[in-house]
Amino acid sequence: VKPLHGERWHMFNIDNVALSQRRIAIASALKEAIEFDQLSLFFQPQIYLNTGKVHGAEALLRWEHPQLGNVPPDLFIPIAESSGIISDLTEWVITQALRYQKKMTALLPEHIISINISAKDLQRKDLPVLFITLLNEYQLNPANVMLELTESATLFEGVDIRNALNDYRLIGVKIAIDDFGTGYSSLAYLSKMGFDEIKIDKQFVMNIEYSKNDQTICRATCDIAKSLGSYVVAEGIEDSQSMVKLQSYGCEVGQGYFFSRPLPFDDYMLWLEQNFEA
Ligand code: C2E
Ligand code: CA
Ligand code: CA
Ligand code: CA
Repeated sequence: VKPLHGERWHMFNIDNVALSQRRIAIASALKEAIEFDQLSLFFQPQIYLNTGKVHGAEALLRWEHPQLGNVPPDLFIPIAESSGIISDLTEWVITQALRYQKKMTALLPEHIISINISAKDLQRKDLPVLFITLLNEYQLNPANVMLELTESATLFEGVDIRNALNDYRLIGVKIAIDDFGTGYSSLAYLSKMGFDEIKIDKQFVMNIEYSKNDQTICRATCDIAKSLGSYVVAEGIEDSQSMVKLQSYGCEVGQGYFFSRPLPFDDYMLWLEQNFEA
């Protein structure tokens, strides 16, 4: 047995322990995040590329912990999903997002609010009820609510998810496939599920100016979406050249730092007042 081998194994183990301790620490801090008012929703504008008008906003979760600081969602969402805390988070996000949507539609009646839903949330039977309750309470048009579902192994399991999506369709809310092209979905899956919106992940958009491959992928996604009757939103648009390229492919809606970073609610309302055209 080579000594190096043993040493490596040893180090690997220590890393693993540190990582799992960190995950446990984050999971337990996350349990208190709602109670201690550490969460907030930011809103990132989505713009119609052809007209420059406001389509709506994606709600993005932020967690400010007194000791850990600003913990990025890419870090805590997966931990929330594997520890079961995601249920409470999702309920909180939906409740807040629809409450804010009421104020956004007062300014712009056609405003679409996009909400990220974990594939795990789709197994819950009580979430559609929560939507019905809140949509009634705030008198919102369900067609102006978009659920963004990330491609995942769970989503891919098929039949149950299709039933779950039907519950939402009956309510009248819309469904988007998020991060399209980065995960597990196949073209057959795309055709079966009939998504209202397809969201191109920023990894294909960020280098679109220089990468022929990314251009091909974005153009093909727009073509497929059109043939299937979905519309396309591209995220991660950081400059006008990328916007123009995507527009030429028939991409309907754009989102990214070029238009605006995600904003706290008050700032988003100001942005909306300055940018909406009747
Ligand atoms: P996502 O759903 O793909 O969201 C888009 C991410 O891209 C956001 O990161 C957004 O801030 C970022 N982004 C937008 N435009 C640009 C751009 O032009 N350049 C660059 N470099 N980045 C841009 P964020 O807010 O850190 O969220 C990360 C991920 O965390 C989200 O990815 C989503 O998967 C998850 N997430 C966020 N909020 C929620 C939530 O309420 N529920 C669930 N289940 N997941 C959430
Ligand atoms: Ca999303
Ligand atoms: Ca994502
Ligand atoms: Ca993405």
